[in-house]
Amino acid sequence: PPDPDALLAEGYHRRLGMGESAFRQLAEYLERREYEGRPYWHVSDYRRGIERGTVLIEGTVVRGFPKVPRTLVLETGVPEGFPDHDAVAVEEKLNGYNVRVARIVGDGDDGDDGDDGDVLAFTRSGLICPFTTRVLERLVDLEPLFDAFPDAMVCGEMIGPENPYTAHEYADVDSLAFRAFDWRDRESGDPLPVRERRERYERFDVPQTRLFGIYDVAESGRSPTTDGSEREDRGDSPKGEPTAADEVRRIIERLDERGREGVVMKSLDGREQLKYTTSAANVGDLAYAFSLPFDYGQAFMFRRLIREAFQSVEWNESDEEARERAHDLGEAILISMRDTIETVAEGESVGERHTVRASPEAVDALLEHLRGQGLRIEVESDEREDGDRVVTFCKRTQSTNDKTRNYLEGQVV
Ligand code: ATP
Repeated sequence: PPDPDALLAEGYHRRLGMGESAFRQLAEYLERREYEGRPYWHVSDYRRGIERGTVLIEGTVVRGFPKVPRTLVLETGVPEGFPDHDAVAVEEKLNGYNVRVARIVGDGDDGDDGDDGDVLAFTRSGLICPFTTRVLERLVDLEPLFDAFPDAMVCGEMIGPENPYTAHEYADVDSLAFRAFDWRDRESGDPLPVRERRERYERFDVPQTRLFGIYDVAESGRSPTTDGSEREDRGDSPKGEPTAADEVRRIIERLDERGREGVVMKSLDGREQLKYTTSAANVGDLAYAFSLPFDYGQAFMFRRLIREAFQSVEWNESDEEARERAHDLGEAILISMRDTIETVAEGESVGERHTVRASPEAVDALLEHLRGQGLRIEVESDEREDGDRVVTFCKRTQSTNDKTRNYLEGQVV
């Protein structure tokens, strides 16, 4: 357990904007980790006021990425999610894993010897990922950005099929890629406004998630303004311009056809976010979760089923369309479980299979990192291609293997 006095002496509470006693309470939730001999602390559980994933390292604070609320109904949820804003930016929500990147100047570095510190990649829960840290270096040069803005926290998604945590196909990504979607101050967690953020990433040549557009929250003529007065009617059409909710629905339909995940709406100051996902994403998640039915929490499945029901109603589906949706859902659930049971019946095991392609050293660091977290990793193939190591490994999912076998052998429930 951490010694709160030692952390207080380093001034972490001030950096987090907390009083001493509040920090002492937070300290009970801190977990100690080490990265290449460098100790750090992270908030592994969500705490009120301080985001899960917040890291304390060598006198520096790296804030967690905030939870993104979700709406199940666009028409009411969008205005509800942005009560103080006239417009929202709609960006694509990419399906990969969240990464925050910051440049940390170690205790021993005085900055005088040309050592500006190390660019480190943090996962959502606040672990330094040795693999992502190494791979990012090859994917995007963040040094000029951190030279200009040493306190920046670059937030983005790691996407693509050769991905150690969540693999998903993207037409333009062969292996693994980074897409920025936020830029925050690492200590305060304050975001840059959307337009400024997009300009800066453009300037530093950092690839970003797609911006679909900026849309009015409320119908023109009825949009609330920040001072509570009525905005003037633009008078362009009796029904007014389409609202953000209308636009998102249209965007979601197109993303759904292409099997993509969804959108995140953001207030232009970057402070409020709201997400909404496609049926393809819900169904894809369900198929995956039901292929490992005893390892995924039942709440995970239930939430996705509920989303489908609300979408079907909001989109006024005909009976026929609803039946088609029901069919897709049923397949996602049953066919995946059936495949799993058959695999186990044939004497094989199931698990979460991933392929990664990186330098031999980065792959070693990844496997060690995963095993260090208590995961059972079986390497299924290990090859060299152009100096890289290409490894397919399987994270063993014990409960699904054991329970499925036991039921097949007649265990009575
Ligand atoms: P949460 O705690 O936010 O509910 P979750 O694990 O349930 O997290 P998701 O439902 O995937 O996560 O939604 C939030 C995540 O979406 C973010 O953590 C981020 O990694 C990812 N994301 C992808 N694209 C974007 C984007 N354009 N803007 C913001 N987040 C994005």
